[in-house]
Amino acid sequence: MTTTQQRTGSTFESLNPASGDVVGTHPVHTEEEVREAVVRAREAAAWWSALSYDERDTHLSAWKGVITRRVAQLADVMHQETGKPHGDAMLEAALAIDHLAWAAGHAGKVLKRRKVSAGLVMANQAATVEYLPLGVIGVIGPWNYPVFTPMGSIGYALAAGNAVVFKPSEYSPGVGEWLARTFQETVGRPVLQVVTGLGETGAALCRAGVDKIAFTGSTATGKRVMAACAETLTPVVIEAGGKDAVIVDEDADVEAAADATLWGACSNAGQTCTGVERVYVHERVYDEFLASLTAKARELRADDSPSSHLGPITMPKQLDVIRGHIQDALDRGGRAVLGGVDAVGERFVQPTILVDVPEDSAAVQEETFGPTVTVAKVRDMDEAVARTNATRYGLGSTVFSKSRGMELAGRIRSGMTAVNGVITFAAIPSLPFGGVGDSGFGRIHGPDGLKEFTYAKAIARQRFKPLLTLTSFTRTEKADAQLAQMITMLHGRGGTIPKK
Ligand code: NDP
Repeated sequence: MTTTQQRTGSTFESLNPASGDVVGTHPVHTEEEVREAVVRAREAAAWWSALSYDERDTHLSAWKGVITRRVAQLADVMHQETGKPHGDAMLEAALAIDHLAWAAGHAGKVLKRRKVSAGLVMANQAATVEYLPLGVIGVIGPWNYPVFTPMGSIGYALAAGNAVVFKPSEYSPGVGEWLARTFQETVGRPVLQVVTGLGETGAALCRAGVDKIAFTGSTATGKRVMAACAETLTPVVIEAGGKDAVIVDEDADVEAAADATLWGACSNAGQTCTGVERVYVHERVYDEFLASLTAKARELRADDSPSSHLGPITMPKQLDVIRGHIQDALDRGGRAVLGGVDAVGERFVQPTILVDVPEDSAAVQEETFGPTVTVAKVRDMDEAVARTNATRYGLGSTVFSKSRGMELAGRIRSGMTAVNGVITFAAIPSLPFGGVGDSGFGRIHGPDGLKEFTYAKAIARQRFKPLLTLTSFTRTEKADAQLAQMITMLHGRGGTIPKK
Protein backbone atom coordinates (compact mmCIF):
# COMPACT_ATOMS: atom_id res chain seq x y z
CA MET A 1 0.00 0.00 0.00
CA THR A 2 1.56 3.31 -0.94
CA THR A 3 -0.95 5.80 0.36
CA THR A 4 -1.98 6.25 3.94
CA GLN A 5 -5.53 7.16 3.04
CA GLN A 6 -8.15 5.07 1.28
CA ARG A 7 -11.50 6.43 0.11
CA THR A 8 -14.40 4.08 0.74
CA GLY A 9 -17.56 5.90 -0.33
CA SER A 10 -18.43 8.53 2.20
CA THR A 11 -15.74 7.46 4.66
CA PHE A 12 -11.97 7.31 4.59
CA GLU A 13 -9.42 5.43 6.64
CA SER A 14 -6.49 6.87 8.46
CA LEU A 15 -3.53 4.53 8.45
CA ASN A 16 -0.44 4.13 10.57
CA PRO A 17 2.41 5.37 8.32
CA ALA A 18 4.93 3.05 10.04
CA SER A 19 2.95 -0.13 9.35
CA GLY A 20 0.07 0.66 7.00
CA ASP A 21 -2.42 -0.61 9.61
CA VAL A 22 -5.85 1.02 9.73
CA VAL A 23 -6.06 3.36 12.71
CA GLY A 24 -9.63 4.58 12.19
CA THR A 25 -12.46 5.22 9.75
CA HIS A 26 -13.86 8.73 9.42
CA PRO A 27 -16.68 10.40 7.48
CA VAL A 28 -15.97 12.51 4.42
CA HIS A 29 -18.15 15.47 5.35
CA THR A 30 -19.97 16.99 2.41
CA GLU A 31 -20.25 20.67 1.59
CA GLU A 32 -23.77 20.67 3.09
CA GLU A 33 -22.60 19.01 6.30
CA VAL A 34 -19.80 21.54 6.64
CA ARG A 35 -22.32 24.38 6.24
CA GLU A 36 -24.55 22.80 8.88
CA ALA A 37 -21.58 22.63 11.26
CA VAL A 38 -20.96 26.35 10.70
CA VAL A 39 -24.64 27.14 11.41
CA ARG A 40 -24.43 25.17 14.68
CA ALA A 41 -21.18 26.95 15.50
CA ARG A 42 -22.80 30.35 14.96
CA GLU A 43 -25.54 29.52 17.47
CA ALA A 44 -22.94 28.29 19.94
CA ALA A 45 -20.84 31.40 19.34
CA ALA A 46 -23.74 33.62 20.43
CA TRP A 47 -23.68 31.90 23.85
CA TRP A 48 -19.89 31.63 24.09
CA SER A 49 -19.17 35.26 23.16
CA ALA A 50 -21.70 36.52 25.71
CA LEU A 51 -19.72 34.88 28.56
CA SER A 52 -17.17 36.95 30.45
CA TYR A 53 -13.46 36.32 29.93
CA ASP A 54 -13.34 34.69 33.36
CA GLU A 55 -16.21 32.36 32.51
CA ARG A 56 -14.55 31.32 29.26
CA ASP A 57 -11.30 30.82 31.14
CA THR A 58 -13.14 28.48 33.53
CA HIS A 59 -14.49 26.37 30.63
CA LEU A 60 -11.16 26.31 28.80
CA SER A 61 -9.29 25.45 32.00
CA ALA A 62 -11.66 22.53 32.55
CA TRP A 63 -10.97 21.31 28.99
CA LYS A 64 -7.24 21.80 29.57
CA GLY A 65 -7.56 19.63 32.69
CA VAL A 66 -9.25 16.83 30.73
CA ILE A 67 -6.58 16.96 27.99
CA THR A 68 -3.83 16.92 30.60
CA ARG A 69 -5.26 13.99 32.54
CA ARG A 70 -5.72 11.97 29.35
CA VAL A 71 -2.58 13.17 27.59
CA ALA A 72 -1.13 9.67 27.23
CA GLN A 73 -4.29 8.64 25.33
CA LEU A 74 -4.00 11.68 23.04
CA ALA A 75 -0.28 11.00 22.47
CA ASP A 76 -1.17 7.46 21.50
CA VAL A 77 -3.58 8.62 18.75
CA MET A 78 -0.91 11.07 17.54
CA HIS A 79 1.71 8.31 17.54
CA GLN A 80 -0.53 5.96 15.59
CA GLU A 81 -1.67 8.46 12.98
CA THR A 82 1.61 10.27 12.31
CA GLY A 83 4.14 7.64 13.39
CA LYS A 84 5.99 10.13 15.61
CA PRO A 85 7.67 8.67 18.71
CA HIS A 86 5.41 8.60 21.77
CA GLY A 87 7.74 10.91 23.72
CA ASP A 88 7.64 13.52 20.95
CA ALA A 89 3.84 13.30 20.90
CA MET A 90 3.78 13.92 24.67
CA LEU A 91 6.08 16.94 24.28
CA GLU A 92 3.87 18.36 21.52
CA ALA A 93 0.69 17.88 23.57
CA ALA A 94 2.31 19.42 26.66
CA LEU A 95 3.27 22.56 24.71
CA ALA A 96 -0.25 22.82 23.27
CA ILE A 97 -1.73 22.62 26.79
CA ASP A 98 0.60 25.41 27.91
CA HIS A 99 -0.54 27.60 25.00
CA LEU A 100 -4.20 26.92 25.77
CA ALA A 101 -3.62 27.96 29.39
CA TRP A 102 -1.87 31.17 28.33
CA ALA A 103 -4.55 32.11 25.79
CA ALA A 104 -7.39 31.51 28.25
CA GLY A 105 -5.61 33.34 31.06
CA HIS A 106 -4.52 36.38 29.04
CA ALA A 107 -7.47 36.99 26.70
CA GLY A 108 -9.16 39.46 29.04
CA LYS A 109 -6.00 41.46 29.66
CA VAL A 110 -5.18 41.75 25.95
CA LEU A 111 -8.64 42.20 24.44
CA LYS A 112 -10.89 43.91 26.95
CA ARG A 113 -11.99 47.51 26.54
CA ARG A 114 -9.35 50.06 27.48
CA LYS A 115 -9.10 53.82 27.43
CA VAL A 116 -6.79 55.53 24.99
CA SER A 117 -5.86 59.19 24.83
CA ALA A 118 -8.18 61.24 22.62
CA GLY A 119 -5.48 63.87 22.01
CA LEU A 120 -5.66 67.64 22.44
CA VAL A 121 -7.72 68.40 19.32
CA MET A 122 -10.47 66.01 20.47
CA ALA A 123 -9.96 66.57 24.21
CA ASN A 124 -13.73 66.57 24.85
CA GLN A 125 -13.96 62.87 23.86
CA ALA A 126 -13.43 59.69 25.86
CA ALA A 127 -11.80 57.14 23.53
CA THR A 128 -11.83 53.38 24.07
CA VAL A 129 -10.79 50.36 22.07
CA GLU A 130 -11.63 46.70 22.56
CA TYR A 131 -11.21 43.55 20.52
CA LEU A 132 -14.40 41.63 19.77
CA PRO A 133 -14.69 38.07 18.48
CA LEU A 134 -15.24 37.63 14.75
CA GLY A 135 -17.81 34.83 15.20
CA VAL A 136 -16.94 31.46 13.66
CA ILE A 137 -13.34 30.57 12.78
CA GLY A 138 -12.54 27.77 10.34
CA VAL A 139 -9.25 26.08 11.23
CA ILE A 140 -7.54 23.95 8.57
CA GLY A 141 -4.74 22.03 10.21
CA PRO A 142 -1.77 19.98 9.14
CA TRP A 143 -0.67 16.46 10.10
CA ASN A 144 2.92 17.15 11.15
CA TYR A 145 2.00 18.66 14.54
CA PRO A 146 -1.67 17.67 14.64
CA VAL A 147 -2.25 19.08 18.16
CA PHE A 148 0.27 21.87 18.68
CA THR A 149 -0.23 23.64 15.36
CA PRO A 150 -4.05 23.77 15.22
CA MET A 151 -4.18 24.59 18.95
CA GLY A 152 -2.25 27.77 18.12
CA SER A 153 -5.38 28.86 16.27
CA ILE A 154 -8.10 26.93 18.13
CA GLY A 155 -7.03 27.89 21.66
CA TYR A 156 -6.53 31.56 20.84
CA ALA A 157 -9.73 31.83 18.75
CA LEU A 158 -11.80 30.22 21.52
CA ALA A 159 -10.23 32.37 24.24
CA ALA A 160 -11.09 35.45 22.19
CA GLY A 161 -14.77 34.40 22.19
CA ASN A 162 -15.19 32.65 18.84
CA ALA A 163 -16.60 29.25 17.97
CA VAL A 164 -14.36 27.01 15.85
CA VAL A 165 -14.97 24.47 13.11
CA PHE A 166 -11.78 22.44 12.73
CA LYS A 167 -10.84 20.47 9.61
CA PRO A 168 -7.84 18.30 10.53
CA SER A 169 -5.58 16.86 7.86
CA GLU A 170 -6.77 13.64 6.28
CA TYR A 171 -3.62 12.09 7.82
CA SER A 172 -4.61 12.98 11.40
CA PRO A 173 -8.43 13.05 11.61
CA GLY A 174 -8.52 10.96 14.80
CA VAL A 175 -6.54 13.62 16.66
CA GLY A 176 -9.04 16.29 15.56
CA GLU A 177 -11.98 14.14 16.62
CA TRP A 178 -10.34 13.48 20.00
CA LEU A 179 -9.98 17.22 20.65
CA ALA A 180 -13.58 18.04 19.62
CA ARG A 181 -14.99 15.09 21.60
CA THR A 182 -13.23 16.05 24.83
CA PHE A 183 -14.30 19.68 24.36
CA GLN A 184 -17.94 18.65 23.86
CA GLU A 185 -17.72 16.39 26.91
CA THR A 186 -16.40 19.27 29.03
CA VAL A 187 -18.33 22.28 27.77
CA GLY A 188 -21.43 20.54 26.41
CA ARG A 189 -21.99 22.91 23.49
CA PRO A 190 -20.69 22.79 19.90
CA VAL A 191 -18.29 25.69 20.38
CA LEU A 192 -15.54 23.46 18.93
CA GLN A 193 -16.56 21.00 16.22
CA VAL A 194 -14.59 18.88 13.81
CA VAL A 195 -15.32 18.12 10.17
CA THR A 196 -13.27 15.42 8.48
CA GLY A 197 -12.48 14.52 4.90
CA LEU A 198 -9.92 15.26 2.22
CA GLY A 199 -8.89 18.53 0.61
CA GLU A 200 -12.42 19.18 -0.70
CA THR A 201 -13.78 19.30 2.85
CA GLY A 202 -11.23 22.01 3.64
CA ALA A 203 -12.23 23.84 0.47
CA ALA A 204 -15.90 23.56 1.53
CA LEU A 205 -15.04 25.11 4.89
CA CYS A 206 -13.58 28.15 3.08
CA ARG A 207 -16.96 28.66 1.36
CA ALA A 208 -19.18 27.78 4.32
CA GLY A 209 -19.72 31.28 5.66
CA VAL A 210 -17.05 31.36 8.37
CA ASP A 211 -15.70 34.73 9.52
CA LYS A 212 -12.03 33.83 9.15
CA ILE A 213 -9.92 30.89 8.04
CA ALA A 214 -6.75 29.94 9.90
CA PHE A 215 -4.74 27.73 7.56
CA THR A 216 -1.51 25.81 8.16
CA GLY A 217 0.04 23.81 5.36
CA SER A 218 1.90 24.31 2.11
CA THR A 219 2.28 27.67 0.38
CA ALA A 220 0.57 26.26 -2.74
CA THR A 221 -2.56 25.17 -0.85
CA GLY A 222 -2.45 28.43 1.11
CA LYS A 223 -2.86 30.30 -2.19
CA ARG A 224 -5.86 28.14 -3.10
CA VAL A 225 -7.42 28.78 0.31
CA MET A 226 -6.88 32.50 -0.11
CA ALA A 227 -8.42 32.49 -3.59
CA ALA A 228 -11.51 30.65 -2.31
CA CYS A 229 -11.81 33.05 0.63
CA ALA A 230 -11.46 36.08 -1.66
CA GLU A 231 -14.86 35.28 -3.21
CA THR A 232 -16.58 36.16 0.08
CA LEU A 233 -13.97 38.58 1.43
CA THR A 234 -13.29 36.09 4.23
CA PRO A 235 -10.02 37.03 5.92
CA VAL A 236 -7.28 34.44 6.30
CA VAL A 237 -4.23 33.79 8.40
CA ILE A 238 -1.72 31.67 6.53
CA GLU A 239 0.99 29.70 8.29
CA ALA A 240 2.83 28.13 5.38
CA GLY A 241 6.16 26.41 4.98
CA GLY A 242 9.70 27.52 5.59
CA LYS A 243 13.34 26.97 4.69
CA ASP A 244 14.80 27.91 8.03
CA ALA A 245 18.53 28.46 8.41
CA VAL A 246 20.94 28.25 11.32
CA ILE A 247 23.92 30.59 11.25
CA VAL A 248 26.97 29.78 13.34
CA ASP A 249 29.44 32.54 14.19
CA GLU A 250 33.14 32.04 14.89
CA ASP A 251 32.66 32.63 18.63
CA ALA A 252 29.69 30.24 18.94
CA ASP A 253 29.50 27.24 21.26
CA VAL A 254 30.03 24.84 18.36
CA GLU A 255 28.95 21.72 20.25
CA ALA A 256 25.70 23.35 21.30
CA ALA A 257 25.13 24.64 17.76
CA ALA A 258 25.64 21.17 16.28
CA ASP A 259 23.32 19.60 18.85
CA ALA A 260 20.59 22.19 18.21
CA THR A 261 21.00 21.92 14.43
CA LEU A 262 20.59 18.16 14.53
CA TRP A 263 17.45 18.36 16.64
CA GLY A 264 16.05 21.19 14.53
CA ALA A 265 16.71 19.26 11.32
CA CYS A 266 15.74 15.74 12.34
CA SER A 267 13.16 15.86 15.12
CA ASN A 268 9.73 14.80 13.88
CA ALA A 269 11.71 13.24 10.99
CA GLY A 270 12.28 16.76 9.64
CA GLN A 271 8.57 17.38 9.12
CA THR A 272 8.52 20.72 10.92
CA CYS A 273 7.57 24.05 9.36
CA THR A 274 10.28 25.72 11.48
CA GLY A 275 12.65 22.79 11.01
CA VAL A 276 16.30 23.50 10.20
CA GLU A 277 16.99 22.86 6.51
CA ARG A 278 20.14 24.97 5.90
CA VAL A 279 23.23 25.91 7.93
CA TYR A 280 25.79 28.67 7.25
CA VAL A 281 28.95 28.33 9.33
CA HIS A 282 31.86 30.74 9.76
CA GLU A 283 34.90 29.34 7.95
CA ARG A 284 36.95 29.35 11.17
CA VAL A 285 34.64 26.83 12.87
CA TYR A 286 33.19 25.06 9.81
CA ASP A 287 35.27 21.86 10.04
CA GLU A 288 34.71 21.50 13.79
CA PHE A 289 30.95 22.07 13.37
CA LEU A 290 30.57 19.64 10.48
CA ALA A 291 32.52 16.92 12.30
CA SER A 292 30.42 17.35 15.42
CA LEU A 293 27.11 17.43 13.54
CA THR A 294 28.01 14.34 11.52
CA ALA A 295 29.17 12.39 14.57
CA LYS A 296 25.96 13.18 16.42
CA ALA A 297 23.76 12.41 13.40
CA ARG A 298 25.39 8.98 13.00
CA GLU A 299 23.89 8.05 16.37
CA LEU A 300 20.32 8.57 15.10
CA ARG A 301 18.24 5.91 13.40
CA ALA A 302 14.82 6.17 11.83
CA ASP A 303 12.87 2.94 12.31
CA ASP A 304 9.79 1.60 14.04
CA SER A 305 11.55 0.32 17.17
CA PRO A 306 10.33 1.83 20.46
CA SER A 307 13.74 3.42 21.08
CA SER A 308 13.87 5.14 17.68
CA HIS A 309 14.35 8.93 17.70
CA LEU A 310 12.88 9.35 14.22
CA GLY A 311 9.50 8.14 13.07
CA PRO A 312 8.36 7.51 9.50
CA ILE A 313 7.56 10.09 6.86
CA THR A 314 3.85 10.59 7.51
CA MET A 315 2.84 11.48 3.97
CA PRO A 316 4.15 8.88 1.47
CA LYS A 317 4.29 11.32 -1.48
CA GLN A 318 6.82 13.37 0.52
CA LEU A 319 9.41 10.57 0.05
CA ASP A 320 9.69 11.51 -3.63
CA VAL A 321 10.23 15.18 -2.74
CA ILE A 322 13.01 14.31 -0.27
CA ARG A 323 14.67 11.89 -2.70
CA GLY A 324 14.37 14.47 -5.50
CA HIS A 325 16.05 17.22 -3.45
CA ILE A 326 18.95 14.96 -2.45
CA GLN A 327 19.43 13.66 -6.01
CA ASP A 328 19.35 17.17 -7.45
CA ALA A 329 21.92 18.37 -4.90
CA LEU A 330 24.26 15.47 -5.73
CA ASP A 331 23.78 15.88 -9.50
CA ARG A 332 24.80 19.50 -9.17
CA GLY A 333 28.10 18.90 -7.37
CA GLY A 334 26.96 18.47 -3.80
CA ARG A 335 28.28 15.73 -1.52
CA ALA A 336 26.50 13.68 1.12
CA VAL A 337 28.75 13.43 4.19
CA LEU A 338 26.02 11.31 5.78
CA GLY A 339 23.06 9.54 4.18
CA GLY A 340 22.20 10.35 0.58
CA VAL A 341 19.65 9.02 -1.89
CA ASP A 342 19.85 5.55 -0.34
CA ALA A 343 18.81 7.04 3.00
CA VAL A 344 15.30 7.38 1.62
CA GLY A 345 13.50 4.11 2.28
CA GLU A 346 9.91 2.99 1.75
CA ARG A 347 8.63 4.63 4.91
CA PHE A 348 11.65 5.96 6.81
CA VAL A 349 14.41 8.42 5.89
CA GLN A 350 17.80 8.29 7.62
CA PRO A 351 19.53 11.58 8.56
CA THR A 352 21.28 13.14 5.59
CA ILE A 353 23.90 15.91 5.66
CA LEU A 354 24.76 17.59 2.36
CA VAL A 355 27.68 19.97 1.65
CA ASP A 356 28.87 21.96 -1.39
CA VAL A 357 25.29 22.28 -2.60
CA PRO A 358 24.69 25.17 -5.04
CA GLU A 359 22.55 27.90 -3.49
CA ASP A 360 19.98 27.82 -6.29
CA SER A 361 19.26 24.09 -5.97
CA ALA A 362 16.00 22.69 -4.62
CA ALA A 363 17.68 21.43 -1.44
CA VAL A 364 18.55 25.04 -0.54
CA GLN A 365 15.52 26.87 -1.92
CA GLU A 366 12.49 24.60 -1.50
CA GLU A 367 10.92 23.02 1.59
CA THR A 368 12.26 19.45 1.84
CA PHE A 369 10.31 18.39 4.95
CA GLY A 370 12.61 15.49 5.73
CA PRO A 371 15.59 14.80 8.05
CA THR A 372 18.08 16.42 5.70
CA VAL A 373 20.21 19.54 6.03
CA THR A 374 22.67 21.44 3.85
CA VAL A 375 25.80 22.89 5.47
CA ALA A 376 27.78 25.70 3.81
CA LYS A 377 30.98 27.53 4.74
CA VAL A 378 30.84 31.35 4.82
CA ARG A 379 33.53 34.05 5.06
CA ASP A 380 31.72 36.04 7.70
CA MET A 381 28.33 36.69 9.21
CA ASP A 382 27.43 39.27 6.54
CA GLU A 383 27.55 36.48 3.99
CA ALA A 384 25.62 34.17 6.35
CA VAL A 385 22.84 36.73 6.77
CA ALA A 386 22.72 37.52 3.04
CA ARG A 387 22.42 33.81 2.12
CA THR A 388 19.87 33.19 4.88
CA ASN A 389 17.73 36.01 3.52
CA ALA A 390 18.02 34.90 -0.13
CA THR A 391 14.87 32.77 -0.11
CA ARG A 392 11.16 33.32 -0.76
CA TYR A 393 10.40 32.00 2.71
CA GLY A 394 10.78 33.79 6.04
CA LEU A 395 9.38 31.71 8.87
CA GLY A 396 11.99 31.00 11.55
CA SER A 397 15.77 31.15 11.92
CA THR A 398 18.52 30.46 14.43
CA VAL A 399 21.72 32.28 15.36
CA PHE A 400 24.55 30.78 17.35
CA SER A 401 26.92 33.52 18.52
CA LYS A 402 28.25 34.54 21.92
CA SER A 403 28.69 38.25 21.20
CA ARG A 404 26.48 39.15 18.22
CA GLY A 405 23.32 37.07 18.69
CA MET A 406 20.80 39.91 19.00
CA GLU A 407 22.42 41.99 16.26
CA LEU A 408 22.43 39.12 13.76
CA ALA A 409 18.90 38.04 14.74
CA GLY A 410 17.65 41.55 13.95
CA ARG A 411 19.10 41.39 10.44
CA ILE A 412 17.38 38.15 9.43
CA ARG A 413 14.12 38.52 7.49
CA SER A 414 12.01 35.95 9.31
CA GLY A 415 9.06 36.12 11.65
CA MET A 416 10.95 34.44 14.48
CA THR A 417 14.58 33.88 15.47
CA ALA A 418 16.08 31.73 18.21
CA VAL A 419 19.44 32.85 19.59
CA ASN A 420 21.68 30.10 21.00
CA GLY A 421 18.74 27.69 20.98
CA VAL A 422 16.48 26.24 18.31
CA ILE A 423 12.72 26.69 17.72
CA THR A 424 12.50 28.00 21.29
CA PHE A 425 10.17 30.83 20.22
CA ALA A 426 7.36 28.35 19.46
CA ALA A 427 7.23 27.18 23.07
CA ILE A 428 6.92 30.70 24.52
CA PRO A 429 3.16 31.44 24.53
CA SER A 430 3.63 35.21 24.81
CA LEU A 431 5.58 35.38 21.51
CA PRO A 432 3.78 35.70 18.17
CA PHE A 433 4.31 32.87 15.67
CA GLY A 434 4.21 33.40 11.90
CA GLY A 435 6.24 34.37 8.88
CA VAL A 436 6.77 36.69 5.96
CA GLY A 437 6.91 36.10 2.21
CA ASP A 438 5.98 32.59 1.10
CA SER A 439 5.79 31.55 4.75
CA GLY A 440 2.50 33.39 5.02
CA PHE A 441 1.12 36.23 7.11
CA GLY A 442 -0.85 36.89 10.24
CA ARG A 443 0.12 35.58 13.64
CA ILE A 444 -0.93 32.88 16.07
CA HIS A 445 0.25 32.78 19.74
CA GLY A 446 0.74 35.69 22.09
CA PRO A 447 -1.29 38.91 22.20
CA ASP A 448 -1.08 39.19 18.38
CA GLY A 449 -2.48 35.66 18.11
CA LEU A 450 -5.47 36.59 20.25
CA LYS A 451 -6.09 39.79 18.26
CA GLU A 452 -5.87 37.80 14.99
CA PHE A 453 -9.29 36.31 15.76
CA THR A 454 -11.00 39.59 16.64
CA TYR A 455 -11.87 42.91 15.14
CA ALA A 456 -10.89 46.17 16.79
CA LYS A 457 -13.87 48.11 18.06
CA ALA A 458 -13.24 51.84 18.55
CA ILE A 459 -15.67 54.03 20.50
CA ALA A 460 -15.43 57.83 20.85
CA ARG A 461 -17.86 59.19 23.48
CA GLN A 462 -18.45 62.91 23.89
CA ARG A 463 -17.77 63.93 27.48
CA PHE A 464 -18.62 67.63 27.12
CA LYS A 465 -19.34 70.10 24.34
CA PRO A 466 -16.24 70.83 22.25
CA LEU A 467 -14.45 74.15 22.60
CA LEU A 468 -14.12 74.10 18.82
CA THR A 469 -17.06 72.68 16.86
CA LEU A 470 -15.36 70.91 13.96
CA THR A 471 -17.72 68.14 12.78
CA SER A 472 -20.73 70.30 11.90
CA PHE A 473 -21.82 72.50 8.99
CA THR A 474 -22.19 75.23 11.63
CA ARG A 475 -18.37 75.36 11.88
CA THR A 476 -17.27 78.98 11.80
CA GLU A 477 -14.30 80.67 10.13
CA LYS A 478 -13.13 81.54 13.61
CA ALA A 479 -13.10 77.84 14.50
CA ASP A 480 -11.07 77.12 11.35
CA ALA A 481 -8.56 79.79 12.31
CA GLN A 482 -8.34 78.50 15.88
CA LEU A 483 -7.79 74.96 14.60
CA ALA A 484 -5.00 76.17 12.30
CA GLN A 485 -3.43 77.98 15.25
CA MET A 486 -3.68 74.95 17.46
CA ILE A 487 -2.19 72.62 14.84
CA THR A 488 0.66 75.04 14.21
CA MET A 489 1.31 75.21 17.93
CA LEU A 490 1.24 71.43 18.29
CA HIS A 491 3.04 70.32 15.15
CA GLY A 492 4.61 73.39 13.48
CA ARG A 493 8.01 72.96 15.04
CA GLY A 494 9.01 69.84 13.10
CA GLY A 495 12.72 69.21 13.51
CA THR A 496 15.16 69.55 10.66
CA ILE A 497 16.60 66.41 9.07
CA PRO A 498 20.25 66.20 10.06
CA LYS A 499 22.62 66.34 7.07
CA LYS A 500 24.96 63.38 6.77
P1 NDP B 1 -1.45 20.86 2.24
O1 NDP B 1 -1.11 22.29 2.26
O2 NDP B 1 -1.97 20.28 0.98
O3 NDP B 1 -2.53 20.52 3.37
C1 NDP B 1 -2.69 21.26 4.57
C2 NDP B 1 -4.16 21.23 5.00
O4 NDP B 1 -4.98 21.84 3.98
C3 NDP B 1 -4.71 19.82 5.16
O5 NDP B 1 -5.65 19.79 6.22
C4 NDP B 1 -5.40 19.59 3.84
O6 NDP B 1 -6.41 18.61 3.91
C5 NDP B 1 -6.02 20.95 3.56
N1 NDP B 1 -6.33 21.19 2.16
C6 NDP B 1 -5.84 20.58 1.05
N2 NDP B 1 -6.37 21.12 -0.07
C7 NDP B 1 -7.21 22.10 0.34
C8 NDP B 1 -8.04 23.04 -0.34
N3 NDP B 1 -8.09 23.10 -1.66
N4 NDP B 1 -8.74 23.91 0.39
C9 NDP B 1 -8.68 23.89 1.75
N5 NDP B 1 -7.93 23.02 2.43
C10 NDP B 1 -7.19 22.14 1.75
O7 NDP B 1 -0.18 20.11 2.73
P2 NDP B 1 0.21 18.59 2.62
O8 NDP B 1 -0.29 17.96 3.87
O9 NDP B 1 -0.19 17.97 1.31
O10 NDP B 1 1.79 18.74 2.63
C11 NDP B 1 2.47 19.22 1.48
C12 NDP B 1 3.64 20.07 1.86
O11 NDP B 1 3.19 21.18 2.61
C13 NDP B 1 4.63 19.40 2.77
O12 NDP B 1 5.52 18.69 2.04
C14 NDP B 1 5.27 20.56 3.46
O13 NDP B 1 6.29 21.07 2.64
C15 NDP B 1 4.16 21.56 3.56
N6 NDP B 1 3.51 21.58 4.88
C16 NDP B 1 3.82 22.57 5.73
C17 NDP B 1 3.28 22.57 6.98
C18 NDP B 1 3.61 23.64 7.93
O14 NDP B 1 3.61 23.39 9.14
N7 NDP B 1 3.84 24.84 7.49
C19 NDP B 1 2.37 21.55 7.45
C20 NDP B 1 2.05 20.56 6.44
C21 NDP B 1 2.62 20.60 5.22
P3 NDP B 1 -6.05 17.10 3.54
O15 NDP B 1 -4.87 16.72 4.38
O16 NDP B 1 -7.29 16.40 3.93
O17 NDP B 1 -5.74 17.11 2.07
